[in-house]
Amino acid sequence: MPRTPKPVVPGWFDPDAGPAEFRLLGTRCRACDAVFFPREDCFCRNPGCAGGELVEVPLSRHGTVWSYTDAHYRPPAPYVSDPDAEWQPYTLVAVELAAERMVVLGQAAPGVTVADLEVGAEVELVPGVLDEDAEHTWRTWHWKPVAAGRRRDV
Ligand SMILES: [Zn+2]
Repeated sequence: MPRTPKPVVPGWFDPDAGPAEFRLLGTRCRACDAVFFPREDCFCRNPGCAGGELVEVPLSRHGTVWSYTDAHYRPPAPYVSDPDAEWQPYTLVAVELAAERMVVLGQAAPGVTVADLEVGAEVELVPGVLDEDAEHTWRTWHWKPVAAGRRRDV
């Protein structure tokens, strides 16, 4: 039986979007143009803004690496993982989106290590899978170097 795609957090992206259309979804204040991600649906958090309607906006698909690290240990609960399975390190990337003037954190695409990243390098947003169970594929987002495979030797 095929698994149903489900977003790890509802409303942060369309779990059914293909790679070309895949975008994170934030909100923008119509009064001051401030953009929020995670999305803010109640009130504008800009202290200098009297408040305006918050509308959903797709965020940029490309950004630059602001910082990165890797996770070589198993985080404690409520992080979900099988304590009997061997821990698989993963890479975290903080990506600066120029148009939105914000930094968005996410996991790097599978196979991408800290050796593949450098501050200022261009990355793109790609759909990813966080986990699967019997009924669902839990979808997330990943950051992938645009020039993956052309690693600089420094
Ligand atoms: Zn505002």
